[in-house]
Amino acid sequence: MLYHHLMPHPLNADLHCHSTVSDGTLSPEALAERAKVRGVELWALTDHDEIGGQERAAAAAHALALPYLTGVEISVSFAGKTVHIVGLGFDPRNDMLRHGLEQTRGGRGQRAREMADQLARAGIVGAYEGALKYVGNPELISRTHFARYLVEAGVCADTNEVFRRFLTEGKPGFVPHRWASLHDAVQWIVGAGGMAVIAHPARYGFTPNEEYALFLEFKGHGGQGVEVVTGSHTAAEAQTYAAMAREFGLLASRGSDFHSPTESRLDLGALDPLPEGLTPVWEALADRVLH
Ligand code: AMP
Ligand code: MN
Ligand code: MN
Ligand code: MN
Repeated sequence: MLYHHLMPHPLNADLHCHSTVSDGTLSPEALAERAKVRGVELWALTDHDEIGGQERAAAAAHALALPYLTGVEISVSFAGKTVHIVGLGFDPRNDMLRHGLEQTRGGRGQRAREMADQLARAGIVGAYEGALKYVGNPELISRTHFARYLVEAGVCADTNEVFRRFLTEGKPGFVPHRWASLHDAVQWIVGAGGMAVIAHPARYGFTPNEEYALFLEFKGHGGQGVEVVTGSHTAAEAQTYAAMAREFGLLASRGSDFHSPTESRLDLGALDPLPEGLTPVWEALADRVLH
């Protein structure tokens, strides 16, 4: 125990979470504080399709002496489903990235109105206005905001139930949407000097063939990493995607996907270590870390 401090310990990196700039409930500053208090040693804020919170997050992290990587989580359409691609360590001033994200956000307003129309037909009125009350960024209205309103309205007990009953494929409030292409999302990130990472692969419900195609095409476009340990994976899924990372020669990432103190399964910094035999994404991103 005396020499415990000399033992190497795995870095407590948490490279995936959301603020009020997308569908989280805490500000970038409050998240930085929470990450620091919970022992995070390298942090990234990864709002959906939006980098408007990056300056605030980086400044807050700097004030707390918390090493920081720029981050984003881009919505992509692939094989008829929505896939999320995390970008890390990019230059947030890059024009192609900024314009691409702006385009990706563009359809959210119309989609939200269609969602509300469908919910109204299912007997739930006022969902658009209700969801808007939870929106921190008018360009980023998300299913999560509808979920919070439906809980408030007493339609469901929690947001998970809202997704299960209303907001997922085949359910009355689900509106299919065309997001960015995999090629474009990876290009925007890589073109801005960052690393592209497949987010929470276990969540997509792809067939083995579709999943293989996703990994292969992602690599072909210049993608380099995959989330192995995340709030969206069980311990068994972490092992599955550790094997996929080794098979495809991908770097491994780790992130809680924290959205809110009351909704998230895992808190910031509360993740298992990466399984053995993987190279962490942060080793390849060392020169992008802001101190
Ligand atoms: P959107 O980008 O508007 O389609 O919303 C996607 C967001 O909804 C995700 O980033 C999660 O925050 C949330 N979400 C998706 N599926 C679920 C689920 N089954 N339970 C709870 N939240 C979910
Ligand atoms: Mn989200
Ligand atoms: Mn996601
Ligand atoms: Mn996320």
